[in-house]
This record gives sequence, structure tokens and C-alpha cells, in this order.
Amino acid sequence: MSDDVPPSPLPERVLQGLGVAAGVAIGPAHVIETGRLRVREYKIPASGIADERKRFADAVDASIKQLRKLQHRASKLSGASAEEMGFLLEASLQILSSSRLIRRVDERIATERVNAEAAVQFETGRIEEEFAQLPDAYLAGRAQDIQDVGVRIIRRLTNTPYAGFADLPKGSIIIARSITPADTVLMDPERIGGFAAAYGGPESHTAIMGRSLGLPAVLGIANLEEQIEAGQMLVVDGTTGRVVINPTEATLARYAKERRRLQRERAVLDRLRTLRAVTLDGTKVALQANVELPLEVELAVRAGAEGIGLLRTEFLFMNRDDLPNQQEQFELMRPFVVSMNGKPVTIRTFDLGGDKLSPALRDKLPTGPNPALGLRAIRLSLKHKPLLEAQLGAILRVAALGPVRILLPMVSTASELVRVRAVLHKVYGRLKKAKVRVPDKMPPLGAMIEIPAAALAVRSIAAAADFLSLGTNDLTMYTLAIDRGDEHVADLYDPLHPAVLQLIYTAIQGAQAAGVPIALCGEMAGDPRYTALLLGFGLRDFSMRPSGLARVKQRVRGVDIEEVTRRSQLILSQPDSAAIAKLLDEKS
Ligand code: PEP
Ligand code: MG
Repeated sequence: MSDDVPPSPLPERVLQGLGVAAGVAIGPAHVIETGRLRVREYKIPASGIADERKRFADAVDASIKQLRKLQHRASKLSGASAEEMGFLLEASLQILSSSRLIRRVDERIATERVNAEAAVQFETGRIEEEFAQLPDAYLAGRAQDIQDVGVRIIRRLTNTPYAGFADLPKGSIIIARSITPADTVLMDPERIGGFAAAYGGPESHTAIMGRSLGLPAVLGIANLEEQIEAGQMLVVDGTTGRVVINPTEATLARYAKERRRLQRERAVLDRLRTLRAVTLDGTKVALQANVELPLEVELAVRAGAEGIGLLRTEFLFMNRDDLPNQQEQFELMRPFVVSMNGKPVTIRTFDLGGDKLSPALRDKLPTGPNPALGLRAIRLSLKHKPLLEAQLGAILRVAALGPVRILLPMVSTASELVRVRAVLHKVYGRLKKAKVRVPDKMPPLGAMIEIPAAALAVRSIAAAADFLSLGTNDLTMYTLAIDRGDEHVADLYDPLHPAVLQLIYTAIQGAQAAGVPIALCGEMAGDPRYTALLLGFGLRDFSMRPSGLARVKQRVRGVDIEEVTRRSQLILSQPDSAAIAKLLDEKS
């Protein structure tokens, strides 16, 4: 958006939430509604009609299977919710089994010669309209069922389950009840100004994605989506957590000024890019980048990252209905390794589960009563060997193109590493036999330290690992029993809690005593407030979102190791996080 946005005649309103990604966005609201998907319409030649009808029939069959599985899962829910879910799913199944919708779509493909998804879209719209004419609440509900079924079939047909934001006016601000990590994957920072949602906490993956894409974001404003209309002018202030609806001229001028100030500050930080990350006493510190999307690699290189310290692979597969095979994964991961041009890339195997659920897995695998403590990450990969083997095969193949390390998420015991190493050797042997290009030397295999048990048992895990990486986001969550994505307890999520700091210190010291390199790739690494403390704990390898690199480097360059080591011991002896925060923020 340009700075000369017309002020609105409507009164200004300010809503307060949690600022999760700093910066100011000014632009028109785009309110995400659940429901209709955008589809392309095209003509089918007469010779292709039979195939198109079959494509539609297959999508219907696949949707029926998917719903049956969901029904089975719903039956295991407790009392009332099982009944309610079962009822809803049964309604959808009935529509899919034989209904006016299915018959009409099939006829439309044949007579109008249009593609199946366009036919589904047209016919669901028509039936909805018919129902809307009837003054009956039950039938109005049925219209919603029909729309849901239509969306389900279209998702199957197009393999692109979520509507993109490509057609929105530049600078648009996305507003929704909840924004999933999968939605953020679709946000192009060139087009989208920022986002705000009713749900979500500061360390949710949605928040992390906002920060890493450099999109100002505010979460945790109750009923946000009901208070904003599409197209309304908004300011999202991701630093203070404010969303301003219909800003006055004075407000717009103030925020436009603040935005220019931030841009100038960024330009200053950009100049740090080519300087080395060394402390005042000459200690060298490695600063690497966390990335999820290919477009972030360029940001990482531009910010001067020495490598990719964490590639979260699960984000490559969020917006799809099926699981990628080895070849697809190889192709998706290749640009990361090639673009880093000889710099190391640490690829983490799928960290699926919890709030990172691919639709592909959501329908195939059970989610237990508590997904954060359930079958997720490395546990899931070890249970579903084809998933792990395909991924390790793809990683081994990209490892032939540049230096690659393999990182396992949510490790809790050394035996998990031992088991993955066995699979890795098997896959390596198989690829070699098939004459597929793999590196001569096996890539290093490492473990995330993000479960308190792993931090405490760091010596035994280090004995089985080639390197370690501290995941302080999950470590904080599991230590304090605070869901990192829950806005209701966001104020209690505190990486400065003495217990969390003790675990971080224990892990760093334990790894060093075992002679195994350790990095830190949680959000703490990218916050300059923690840089001196972590250096004092002995950490020398940080991996963070690209936008954090310059500020952390600036901080590194002002630190004396001896002094921060002494100070970190003082911090460790404090009784609570208030005392710790006070020491941390005092000029050292
Ligand atoms: C972490 O938990 O700190 C981490 C880096 O992993 P993720 O945020 O992807 O869970
Ligand atoms: Mg984690």
C-alpha cells in the first residue's frame, strides 16, 4: 500500500491482541471465510468426456473412503461429540452416495463438456440457492452440508486444498478466525501486508511463519473476524499487538511514519550483512537460518546466513492431500541445497503432528487425545517406515549435491537415533545398488533436544548422535506444560523460567563434554535479548529466521565472552524469571 491511503469516514476502533511478528501493515482487509474454493473452468473435448466422468467418480469414491475413516475415528470420541460428528459425517456420506448433486454434476460434465471441478462448483451453488429459497432451518443446514461435500470433492480433484491469496490487492491484510500454518505458506510477502486472527499464541507455528516471512501479525483477538468487513481499511501493528479498524487520518500518518522508520532501521541492519559474527574478544560464532519455504532461501542468503541450520520439511507438504514420494521430495528439497551453493543445509525429517498436521496425514493416521504428546515427529516416522524411507532416500540424494545434515525432531531416547541410523544405512545401500547418485560419505545424523527428558539425558543421546540442536520452542512448552499455540496461556509461556534455562545450560554443557557440536534453532536464537546469555552458556551456533540474523549479529559483535559467561552464572542462580529478566535487560 502507498502511504497516501484515504482515511475512512467511519469511526476508528482499536482492538488489542498479541503482537507476534513485529512491523506495521496498512491495507484493506481480506476476511477468510470457510467454504467456497476458487476453481478454474475449461472445456473438455468430446473424446475426453468418459475420462472426465471417471475422474469425478474416482474423486467421489476417494471422498467416501476418507469420510468412512473419519467416521471410524469419530466413533471413538466421547459421548455427545461422537454423536454430533457421526451425524454430520453421515449426512455428507449420504450426499456422496447417491444424490441430486452427484447426478447433476455427472450430467453437466457430459452435456456441457466442462471439467469436473467447475461442474461441482456450479451444481453446489445451484442447489444451495434452491435451498435458500425454503424457509426451513433444517434445509438451510443441508445447504451447508452440500457445500462441504462440494469443497471436499473439489479438493480431491484439484489436489490444492486451500484457496490461495494470489489475486488479492497488493498490501491486503488477511483476517480470520484462525490462520493455519498451511494458510501462511500461501502468503506471498510481496502481495500480503500482514495478518491477524482470533486464535493463536506467540510461539505457534503461524506466528513463527509470520516472523519468518517478515509479515506483521497479531493473534488472539476474540471474535476478530466478526468485527471486520472485507475491504475495510486496517492497520496491523505487530509490535504492540494492535489492530486499528478504519484508522483516522492522524493514525494513518503516525503509522506510515513508523513504517518508514522501520524501513530505515532495516536498511542499517542490512549493512551488517557482510560483517563477520565475532565477539569483542575474537570468538567466532556461527549464524545460520531456519527456513520452511524455498522463497526464504534467498532471504537467508541475502541476510548473510552461513548455512541453513533448520529446514522444516513438513511445510513443503502442507497443502496437499497425498503423501509425496521420494522423487517429489528430492525435487522439492533440491533448490534449498543448490541455492546455498556449498554452504551446509540441515534437513529435519517430518515433524508432523501437533499443530503441524498435513491433510495427507490427518485422514490417514489417528490423532490421539493429546496430539502434542502423541504419535508425532520421529515417533510417527519410525512407526510408518515407508514415510521415513522415502524421506531419507530423498535427503541422501540431495546430499550428493551439497553438504547436508539430517536432523530428527522430538527425540526422547538414544535408541530412536540408533533405529533411524539402521534405516538410513539400508536406504543408502539400496540407492547405491540401484546406481542412484548418493554422497560417498554418509551425512551426519543429529537429534533435536526439545523434550526435557532429552536435555537431561543429553550425554546418552550425544553418544548416538553426530550433532545436536536445541529446540527451545518445544522445550519451553513441554517443561512448563504450556501449549505454545494457545493464546489463553500465552502470558505464561516463558523461556526465561529458571527450569527452562537450566535445561538449556545442561544440554549445552553435556554436549560439549561429550565432544558433540550443539546448535540452538528455537525462536530464542533469533531474539537479540537472549544472545549474550546463550553465548555465556557456551553456545556458538545459532539458527534463526533470516530476518533475525542482522540484529543478533550486531549483538554478538558487542559481547565479551568472559564477561557474559560470568553473568550467565549469576542469571542461573536467580529464583524466578522476573529477577532473570531484570538482569538480562540491565546493560551488561
Ligand atoms: C523448536 O521446537 O524449538 C523448534 C525449532 O522446532 P519447531 O518450532 O519446528 O517445533
Ligand atoms: Mg520443535
